[in-house]
Amino acid sequence: MSQINIVGAGLSGLSFAIKARVGGENVTLFDKSAPPSISSGLCANVISINKRSADFLKSLGILERLEDSSRTSFHEIVVNDSDGIGRVCFSSKVLQEDYLGFVIEADALRHAMLEQAKSIGIQIFWQHPFALELLKCDLLVAADGPNSAAREALGIKTFQYPYAQSANVCVVEATRPIEGTAFQWFGKEGPLALLPLSEAGRYAVIWSSPKDFGIQPEYYFENEINRRTREDLGKLSILTKRLSFPLQQKHALKYFIDGVALIGDSAHTIHPLAGQGGNLGFADAEVLADEISLSKIEGLSLPNKRILRRYQRKRRLEAVTFGLTMEAFYRSCGSQNPGVQLVRSLGMNYVQENDHLKRIAMSIAASGFC
Ligand SMILES: Cc1cc2nc3c(=O)[nH]c(=O)nc-3n(C[C@H](O)[C@H](O)[C@H](O)COP(=O)(O)OP(=O)(O)OC[C@H]3O[C@@H](n4cnc5c(N)ncnc54)[C@H](O)[C@@H]3O)c2cc1C
Repeated sequence: MSQINIVGAGLSGLSFAIKARVGGENVTLFDKSAPPSISSGLCANVISINKRSADFLKSLGILERLEDSSRTSFHEIVVNDSDGIGRVCFSSKVLQEDYLGFVIEADALRHAMLEQAKSIGIQIFWQHPFALELLKCDLLVAADGPNSAAREALGIKTFQYPYAQSANVCVVEATRPIEGTAFQWFGKEGPLALLPLSEAGRYAVIWSSPKDFGIQPEYYFENEINRRTREDLGKLSILTKRLSFPLQQKHALKYFIDGVALIGDSAHTIHPLAGQGGNLGFADAEVLADEISLSKIEGLSLPNKRILRRYQRKRRLEAVTFGLTMEAFYRSCGSQNPGVQLVRSLGMNYVQENDHLKRIAMSIAASGFC
């Protein structure tokens, strides 16, 4: 049994800890924050997870711990060009699945993970930031988010740049909702997503818009959402305070060094326009834990570099590919060039007519590139 120290009890760190513990490792978590309290009332901070992540969370016993009110499955995604005439509808029927993914309240998901971790005896040290002494173990897993202190302290370089956008998040109520369907509008003011919540008619809004947009008064923001969504869901009214998150793209050049592995946002942070960052982190957690288990069959034990090299080989290419894909979307969708806008609309309509292309796009969104 190896001793694994994990820095960061976010979604990536917790899911890795549970999977590794179930695989027989001795794991201990350290997080610089105080233990989270579960928020009451409407939650604007949600995460949409794909089929692969849902299967992973089910296998860890986490999905079942969530109340129905904090998770909602969706079976359709409608993507619109808000500056043009393009529209694509992706349905789970094309993949012969019942659903494409879940929208889950972020706090409730973390709470369910903490409960599951506790139930299998994982120890968490709160208000315990990264320190070099945590390296005294067989493997240190850095899951401490985009500004990873572990990554910095260990000198792992990143390729990074900020976007001139922040994500504005809130909950709205629609007068003409469409059940089980998530929506996206691409246009020059940045991608806008509406994700269905469990209570009929309510949606979590994630609008990645120019930075000054977040400081506009509520009535202005509400008018803009209504203008962009063109009454596809009737009239939308804002129900909660708006939260704002600065956006950046950041990739660690290495996902491991001697005795240390990076997972989740500490390894890669991407634009949330397709809601894939958390999915990548869950896949990192699953693959790293699997590699550790498989290596035992081969007689390898931590911190053998071959285990970590295989993890890096399996995960880095996918994260970089997603990062580049998001970048291409970000640039083509934000363009004010009428030629680019026309190509975007025609492209969407072409995909709408082509089930084969739809199937490819959907299986990548559902399960990643691997
Ligand atoms: C607006 C927005 C919407 C998004 N929507 C989606 C979506 O729909 N679907 C999706 O898949 N992804 C989405 N993402 C991305 C997703 O939220 C992240 O990829 C994911 O939460 C990263 O989880 P993590 O555990 O790797 O990092 P984090 O959530 O950042 O967790 C890091 C943990 O480490 C701790 N920590 C930090 N520093 C230290 C330190 N020095 N020492 C010890 N502990 C430390 C923190 O307290 C925290 O608990 C979205 C992101 C944004 C900004």
